[in-house]
Amino acid sequence: MAKEWGYADHNGPDHWHELYPIAKGENQSPIELNTKEISHDPSLKPWTASYDPGSAKTILNNGKTCRVVFDDTYDRSMLRGGPLAAPYRLRQFHLHWGSSDDHGSEHSVDGVKYAAELHLVHWNSKYNSYATALKHPDGIAVIGVFLKIGREKGEFQLFLDALDKIKTKGKEAPFNNFNPSCLFPACRDYWTYHGSFTTPPCEECIVWLLLKEPITVSSDQIAKLRTLYSSAENEPPVPLVRNWRPPQPIKGRIVKASFK
Ligand SMILES: [Zn+2]
Repeated sequence: MAKEWGYADHNGPDHWHELYPIAKGENQSPIELNTKEISHDPSLKPWTASYDPGSAKTILNNGKTCRVVFDDTYDRSMLRGGPLAAPYRLRQFHLHWGSSDDHGSEHSVDGVKYAAELHLVHWNSKYNSYATALKHPDGIAVIGVFLKIGREKGEFQLFLDALDKIKTKGKEAPFNNFNPSCLFPACRDYWTYHGSFTTPPCEECIVWLLLKEPITVSSDQIAKLRTLYSSAENEPPVPLVRNWRPPQPIKGRIVKASFK
């Protein structure tokens, strides 16, 4: 594999394990959800997100995705409840998408792939630092939101408009006063399982909360994501049109539903 991982033939998901052996581990993400095999767990509580819009700091293009970064130096934007035994701090959110509207999500539901998938990454504040949290199976909680094509979503446009400032790899711009809970669907039902980051090093430290109900955005809005570049300003332009990892083996793990 080339020095840096990516999504191309020579450095894509099939090669990640060469530098990151855990990518072939027992608890990898994403997975395919087969809803007939998922049972309701009545002990799963509702989750709540209390986000401080002032904790949004910057938006950046890291060549793999566009990411909004939050101030996580204290308990400011928090996720609580659901399958979580402690409060978790919001650190960043980012998206995965495909080259056309008929695919792009990482998880799939009964064979259905959505056009994109939003990941909100939180860390368990009992571990004192993000780096320490990465070393524990309950260190990170990610909320996954599916994006399907339909009517335009105004709240999503606030985020998309900022992409013009971060077209190329390494660009970063201020991004303030944004509450990502505006990107949640109305229904809070979720599936949960233990898994990993879907990007190297693919650490197996994640409690996933995948929201059952997708949000709706327009085809033009998804197309805006594909106007980003994975190349830096001074390099030959390479469009960032595909950044999803395919489903990984479930290896006996149990997925539970918060709903009947
Ligand atoms: Zn992700």
